[in-house]
Amino acid sequence: MNADTTQGSSAGPAPSWQEDAGRDLVRSFGDRMALFVRGEGAYVWDGDGKKYLDFLAGIAVDALGHAHPTFVEAVATQAATLTHVSNYFATPPQLALAARLKRLAGTGDAGRVYFANSGAEANEAAFKLARLHGRGTQRTRILALKNGFHGRTMGALALTGKPALQADFLPMVPGVEHIDATIDALEAAVDDRVAAFIVEPIQGEAGVVELPDGYLEAARAITARHGALLIVDEIQTGAGRTGEWFAFQHAGIVPDAITVAKGIGGGFPIGALITFGAASELFFPGTHGSTYGGNALGTAVAGAVLGEIEASGLLANASAREEQLRAGIAGLGSPLVAGVRGRGLLLGVALAHPVAKAVVAAAQEHGLIVNAANDETIRLAPPLIIGDAEISEFLALFGAALATAADALMIDESAAAATEGVPA
Ligand code: PLP
Repeated sequence: MNADTTQGSSAGPAPSWQEDAGRDLVRSFGDRMALFVRGEGAYVWDGDGKKYLDFLAGIAVDALGHAHPTFVEAVATQAATLTHVSNYFATPPQLALAARLKRLAGTGDAGRVYFANSGAEANEAAFKLARLHGRGTQRTRILALKNGFHGRTMGALALTGKPALQADFLPMVPGVEHIDATIDALEAAVDDRVAAFIVEPIQGEAGVVELPDGYLEAARAITARHGALLIVDEIQTGAGRTGEWFAFQHAGIVPDAITVAKGIGGGFPIGALITFGAASELFFPGTHGSTYGGNALGTAVAGAVLGEIEASGLLANASAREEQLRAGIAGLGSPLVAGVRGRGLLLGVALAHPVAKAVVAAAQEHGLIVNAANDETIRLAPPLIIGDAEISEFLALFGAALATAADALMIDESAAAATEGVPA
């Protein structure tokens, strides 16, 4: 399929979509793996009409799956009513979403919401919040975790604890230090010159890596003791994906701020910084802004998406489906599976060999979309709407993909019979 029908004329056959992509799209992404033309529920279809079960959901974005009637209706109705007026003005959907996010995050009255257009932008706002907290004081240090991911814009990249992603873009925005993900390392690093500590409750991009037990509780206590902000990056874990609205709520703590994006919009680009308590008073007129941030269309869609997650009990669904997936994956008995990490519908299947890319390719052949978060981890982040049928289908397709990859590796499937279940 050629997107531009004016090209590929009599000189020869029309270029394939791969050629179009290779020529016209920025090279910062690798080769695109497929051309998808349509989606419905937990399924997408490619340009050849092949159907795929989507267990990635646009990297934890399509919370309601594809073309959900609530999403479609919200886009159409708001587009026909009022799309954008700039932040000189307020709109009803923007006010309603701010109030809803405050309620879901549990900020109480003292919370405030800054609307952005992506996760990275939400984290840029969080970075500026930290700077405002340190303004006029010795608080110039910002702490983040090694291997953490917070986005690709320069501030968010500085927060990201992956030197390989930073190397070509030095110098980084100064002041950020990356520490090991242990309570001891945090205790040793935090002093009265720290403005903020930013942390993902589960490190999604690192391969669905959980924090040590009690980490967020300790982080809250340590940062509070030193007057530093605790900022939780809920961009991948938020919007119900882990079985709570936001993953920090499993720990029962109150952070100073959280950043959200991805699932909040269910496919519509939107992000937000949500502040709690005194941190809500740090921004003052002129200190931050965005033309599109919080426009009527985006906030109406996000409001509808969150409303549907709430009305359909999708938090409980995320928890219940986690149990089914864990049991089902263990039941596959694949010698390639070394364990399952994560929570709710953000799961990382740990592989016994570094063959994640081969498993992803085999899955795609079988009609299943999953992601290689790293060489040894398959990330699962399906839409929150999945039910029994999708889980059964997933287990069949994933089992087949693992078998294909194991065959290629010449691993004896029967070895699995000797394995007693799969460690959690
Ligand atoms: N923070 C986390 C935890 C993420 O997982 C991501 C994206 O994967 C981001 C920030 C950046 O979000 P975006 O890609 O919308 O800029």
